[in-house]
Amino acid sequence: MTGKTDYFGTVVIPLFNERESLVELHRQLTAVMERTFAGHELIFIDDGSTDGSIDALRELRAGDRRVKIISFRRNYGKSAALSDGFKAARGDVVITIDADLQDNPEEIPGLVAKLDEGYDLVSGWKLKRKDPITKTLPSRLFNLTTSLVSGIKLHDFNCGLKAYRGEVVKRISIYGELHRFIPVIAGWEGFRVTEKRVTHFERKYGRSKFGARRFLNGMFDLATVMFLTRRASTPFHFFGRVAFLFLAAGSLITLYFLVIWMLGHGLRVRPLMVGGLVMIVIAIQIGSFGLLAELFTSRVERTFAYREHRIDD
Ligand code: UDP
Ligand code: MG
Repeated sequence: MTGKTDYFGTVVIPLFNERESLVELHRQLTAVMERTFAGHELIFIDDGSTDGSIDALRELRAGDRRVKIISFRRNYGKSAALSDGFKAARGDVVITIDADLQDNPEEIPGLVAKLDEGYDLVSGWKLKRKDPITKTLPSRLFNLTTSLVSGIKLHDFNCGLKAYRGEVVKRISIYGELHRFIPVIAGWEGFRVTEKRVTHFERKYGRSKFGARRFLNGMFDLATVMFLTRRASTPFHFFGRVAFLFLAAGSLITLYFLVIWMLGHGLRVRPLMVGGLVMIVIAIQIGSFGLLAELFTSRVERTFAYREHRIDD
């Protein structure tokens, strides 16, 4: 694999009630990071743990100043934890890893080597996943759908173990539960995204924090991500189309009744007639909503600076 690189490396570790794993995780990470990077930092984000994880972290920091701690007052979720870790990260290369020892730190050098092949994000792919079938099956469905819909061809979007060029984590913004879509967001931002097979272990201590409930939310989130990345800069193109369809249908129907009336036939209220009028009203609503979205976007757009890519040398 790779030997030592010139990079400064940051590991971002979100954790929620993972006290038993922390000492072992710190030991394994430190060994790998010292071997692979010129310097490193380990950013632990305690996402409102109630099991004393924070005390374990303080102890680690007392013995190793490369340990940085971000502590949330309550449980905000993995996306929030990653997001704040990304903001604090100083590394040329940033690694994310779960805190529960299910991911293997020994995979890090391989991921970094893959970055060096010219990628901006390398996502782990848990080929032999060590989780109960109640998780692996829905997960498969999720990955398949996301891959099809997003056009980003990965097998395992949600693997906790990933490696990024520093630039990437500064430019993608995640909130809510969007961490599952990091490769999609990065891919659509124009970053080169790939995957690499990694080993996966069973959970040793504690419990999984995610249940099956997440998969319905996952579908909503996919719609959000699709809309944000593909449509957010031209909302009227989307809403305008929908409005146009309604307006065209409504107008045709109304025109039909107008012609009948002009030919001298008496008019009665008919379901189709009401339908036509309702469609016109809907068209006006959706259309003006799209224009409002456009107005909003034109304001926000001015504050977007992430698009530029400075090349100074
Ligand atoms: N995690 C977190 N905040 C949460 C839920 C989870 O920081 O609200 C962390 C958790 O401690 C672990 C990682 O995210 O380090 C992955 O969580 P988990 O192992 O429960 O997910 P699974 O492996 O079961 O998909
Ligand atoms: Mg886990």
